[in-house]
Amino acid sequence: MKRLVVLGGGESGVGTALLGRAKGYDVFVSDKGQIKDKYKEVLIHNEIEFEDGEHSQEKILNADIVMKSPGIPNKAPLVKHIRAIGIPIVSEIEFASKFTDATLVAITGSNGKTTTASLTHHVLKQDMKVGLAGNIGESFAKQIVENDYPNYVLEVSSFQLDDIHEFKPKIAVLLNITPDHLDRYDYEFENYIQSKFKIAQNQTQDDYFIYDADDPVITNWLVKHPVQSTLLPFSLITPIENGAYLDNDNIKITIDNNQIIMPTANLALEGKHNIKNAMAASTVAHLLKIRKQTIRESLENFQGVEHRLEHVLKINKVQYINDSKATNVNATYYALESMDAPTVWIVGGEDKGNDYQELFQFVNEKVKAIICLGVDNEKLMDNFGNMVDIIVETQFVSEAVKIAYKIAEAGDNVLLSPACASFDLFENYEDRGRQFKDAVRNL
Ligand code: ADP
Repeated sequence: MKRLVVLGGGESGVGTALLGRAKGYDVFVSDKGQIKDKYKEVLIHNEIEFEDGEHSQEKILNADIVMKSPGIPNKAPLVKHIRAIGIPIVSEIEFASKFTDATLVAITGSNGKTTTASLTHHVLKQDMKVGLAGNIGESFAKQIVENDYPNYVLEVSSFQLDDIHEFKPKIAVLLNITPDHLDRYDYEFENYIQSKFKIAQNQTQDDYFIYDADDPVITNWLVKHPVQSTLLPFSLITPIENGAYLDNDNIKITIDNNQIIMPTANLALEGKHNIKNAMAASTVAHLLKIRKQTIRESLENFQGVEHRLEHVLKINKVQYINDSKATNVNATYYALESMDAPTVWIVGGEDKGNDYQELFQFVNEKVKAIICLGVDNEKLMDNFGNMVDIIVETQFVSEAVKIAYKIAEAGDNVLLSPACASFDLFENYEDRGRQFKDAVRNL
């Protein structure tokens, strides 16, 4: 019996343990932190041995294969040790994909993964049986054990891609690459780019690689490191023969001379970035032969994803928008770009080495007041202090919302798009977004 050791007892760890067990492995789960009760119950119920609060080396170093959860960094001493003695380390998608024959659509990028994966799933599920997994909802591994689908849309992070060897999606989508998580990549942007491109490393000509042809990081890399896959670029700027582009206000997607045309005016999601996301999603759908009418309709009735430019309420003709998931400058760039009215902007949190320069143009044009919501707001004050008439700081969401309420006039937007991580004041971005929405509803 082969021994599978799972490091990390969260969603992907417990899912992998279940799959490993079902496939006849001797499974052990080890988590240095605390495993949540709901996961412990699953492990106990399935008679899977586990520990938390420590890593017992004698139970780990005898593994034949180790699944490392995406949250555990490579520089963790145990991980280094495992590598040094030559035990193969895989990620959940690598391990799980060996046990399914499903058609895999894998979506990655620095921003827009969840939105695009959810949108793609929404379109595909109208016409086929398809699971949604990866960083969303129930783990891929668990779905394979419990209810294997013939198709999956997978949201894939760079951490999942770091430890793949044979993972081979039929369709890979690369949305964009901007610097993020560099602490996990020795502060080398190149390493992070390389990790994102692993999504295509095992693809052949029979597979498809959908990517943003307007992103210079992607196109420059492709010139130097060509992929084997059939390329399907999308662009907002240049006409594309095989792939998708924006022709005036229409998305045109052509695959093997078969074209679908969709007016952007009808898209449910707003903003240029969402036109790109819609292009990516509908290119996948068109490839998988979803009916054109179905693609059009489902792009129109998609409900959006919580905390991503989510319209909360309109109060006194002021629109409150929750974009708490904007944890980096690039995401906030697209949020500000999509604002079509004077905006009171709530920003701030844990700074990840942000360079705010690319936001200056939009702040000058659209932002009437800034409310800094973080423990340390000095950098925001330095960058934007001279740009707007009103800039204030607070450490309380309720207060931020009350101040915004006072400043905003009919027709304005109040936008929470922090461009920063949330951990200084909140549990996570969901907590921040929910507190914001509660505060708005309490106005
Ligand atoms: P991810 O799963 O990659 O973190 P999300 O879909 O959760 O991406 O969106 C994260 C943030 O990025 C949100 O603020 C969202 O509005 C913004 N965003 C969505 N799509 C894109 C895109 N294609 N480019 C840049 N920003 C985007």
